[in-house]
Amino acid sequence: MNTHPAIQKLIDDISVENILTLLELEDFSPVFDYADRINHFHHGKYIDIRAIVEFSNYCRRKCKYCGLNATNSSAKRYRMTEEEVIQTAIHARKAGYLTAVLQSGEDAYFTVEKLGFIVKEIKKQVDMFITLSCGEKSFEELAYLKDCGADRYLLKHETADTSLYGNLHPCGTLAARTQCLRDIKKLGYDAGSGFMIGLPTQTLHTIAEDLFLLYDLQCDMAGIGPFIPHPETELRDCSAGNTELTKKAVAIARILLPKANLPATTSLGVLDTKQKNNIFSCGANVIMRKVTPPEYVQLYDIYPTAIKVNNIEEERQELETTIRSLGKIPR
Ligand code: SAH
Repeated sequence: MNTHPAIQKLIDDISVENILTLLELEDFSPVFDYADRINHFHHGKYIDIRAIVEFSNYCRRKCKYCGLNATNSSAKRYRMTEEEVIQTAIHARKAGYLTAVLQSGEDAYFTVEKLGFIVKEIKKQVDMFITLSCGEKSFEELAYLKDCGADRYLLKHETADTSLYGNLHPCGTLAARTQCLRDIKKLGYDAGSGFMIGLPTQTLHTIAEDLFLLYDLQCDMAGIGPFIPHPETELRDCSAGNTELTKKAVAIARILLPKANLPATTSLGVLDTKQKNNIFSCGANVIMRKVTPPEYVQLYDIYPTAIKVNNIEEERQELETTIRSLGKIPR
């Protein structure tokens, strides 16, 4: 089969300009098809399912798009106990999940000693991959957590535009964020980055830079999802990100990082369930499911969703059925 000339040009010379050319294509279907073929070559028909445990919504940071930001005084804060986190992950393993993603705001209560203890206990009791997603950490802290058995670390770069990053993150810099990602990679974790589509002032050129950064970091995982305005944030009146553009970005990420794990992000599903399923036919190979206990799940309010978690086993079954109905194999 002939490869579209713009795709071939990108493969021969990976650059921001060549990524931008693809994003601007009027007929994007050759890119979707190509991404689907590469995905199939590397991942077959498998869709890998991850369980996500949102264990604390305390956060010291003030990211302007996020409902957990420290200035949101209307957020009701919660912390799961260490034992609750451990038991939830074990429960998810027994329901069939092979990976637990432990995610939180940047909560100083959860020191690396506490996080390390949680990782070690889960690993002692069940055979399960552990992904951490708890914000920026020092090289030493990341090294310690790796020694405790953490397999993967997820820290989205959010936007590769230095000044937009600065505007949205009063508590951090893009340089510190990417350094942390490079540390994660250097320590031998599976490194996960990602970014949002539709942030205010973002252009197609910014998205091309975002995609190039994923390639430059040689990410093992990349979550690309639409921005969703949260009513208790400064960005409440901005519009949500475009789901078609999100799909295009995922397809290009698949071309740049053929073997990477690319999730159909939760935020995509919030805006458009059809697009979320559809994305498995143009590059995505992973899906995450919340297994956060019901008393906390509504409080982990990064952006507005109607997602409920009732029964871990039933939800897993339902998800497997949906995946099979798409002609894919849940794993
Ligand atoms: N504290 C952790 C986890 C952050 S929350 C960390 O810093 O990595 C997980 C992800 O949710 C963020 O990385 C961000 O990309 C996404 N997110 C936050 N607010 C959002 C919003 N309003 N719309 C869409 N995605 C959002």
